[in-house]
Amino acid sequence: MSASRPRHVLHVDLDAFFVAVERVVDPRLCGRPVVVGGPPESRGVVAAASYEARAYGIHSAMPMSQALRLCPDLVRVSGSRGMYTRASKAVFSLLGEYTPIIEKVSVDEAYLDLSGTEHLFGHALDAADHMRREVKERLRLDLTVGVSANRLVSKVASAFAKPCGLFDVRPGQEPRFFAPLPVKVLPGIGPVTATRLRDFHIDYLGVLAETDRWFLEETFGRYGPAMQQRARGEDRTPVCPPWERPEMKSIGHERTFAEDTDDPRLLRGRLQKLLEQACARLREKQLLARTLTVKLRFADFVTVNRDVTLAQPSDHDLEWWKEAEPLLERLCARRALVRLVGVRLSGLQQGFWQGSLFDPEAVAARDRLSVLDKLRGRYGEGSLQSGDRLWLRGQS
Ligand SMILES: [Mg+2]
Repeated sequence: MSASRPRHVLHVDLDAFFVAVERVVDPRLCGRPVVVGGPPESRGVVAAASYEARAYGIHSAMPMSQALRLCPDLVRVSGSRGMYTRASKAVFSLLGEYTPIIEKVSVDEAYLDLSGTEHLFGHALDAADHMRREVKERLRLDLTVGVSANRLVSKVASAFAKPCGLFDVRPGQEPRFFAPLPVKVLPGIGPVTATRLRDFHIDYLGVLAETDRWFLEETFGRYGPAMQQRARGEDRTPVCPPWERPEMKSIGHERTFAEDTDDPRLLRGRLQKLLEQACARLREKQLLARTLTVKLRFADFVTVNRDVTLAQPSDHDLEWWKEAEPLLERLCARRALVRLVGVRLSGLQQGFWQGSLFDPEAVAARDRLSVLDKLRGRYGEGSLQSGDRLWLRGQS
């Protein structure tokens, strides 16, 4: 297929999936505010909420006790993983009849590449519409679909179309679709970045798309220009079917302290070292990660996780450290003794960090990292600790 031919990428997402499956089993739940999750007595949280429940301000991860206070008529069901997995399999096998190029992102969400299937199903938009009706008729579940020439725009389009909708963005219309949307709708722009952008009066994607590139690079580093490209609706990430995905799902390291501690220097040092180890393993396997999770377990065994997702996947210690440091600070706000610290890099894909191939400094930094990996391999993990951390600081 020629490169100039437009691609047709769909982002499909089942609406309030767990609740929808429960409603298939028990139709009396239809039209009522329903949540799936554990009982309030055992500190249960909301795993999924129907749109009727969301109208009360209830959302997933909310403590069940709070949800019940917000809506006294709320119906709670405990949920059944096995049932959801079976329903998910049924949906995906149906979607698989449209194209083998499916990348499943979760139990109820996937990307499909329909490029070149026009002779079978007509235009991607007709195929998407057919798909939605088939899922509804055969499985009694609502599917929302975003259609465009790339993953990024389709993802935003489906969020736009929810619930139970279909939204397509024609090739060339991406910047116009994105321009009036707030920056936070762009996957990869978290609350911290959104706040920083707002400080510079960059509230909308249209403004971000038009902001001076050098200013963005100066302020946000390599992430700046990448973010701007995405704000214009540009994305070249392919839809990765299972046979092209790395076998490994994530790379993680964790360490329990010999003695519980709340010393910030100790916590930072340990986290940094774990991150270096994880990134070295990524590079060794020629993988890039998209998401970082930092985990702390406190002395009372309460465990908390925070994660962050980059716009462009990376295997670079320093890039990840810039994200990990504020996460650690937020986690430490609890000011309790820490028992264990851990990191996990996920959303893996095959590849290696290219930085800017035309930026000699970035290339030099890359070369130094690979030298460090080799030295670590030869002399063991501890050999370069403090030195390379100083070196990493010097790079920022
Ligand atoms: Mg969903």
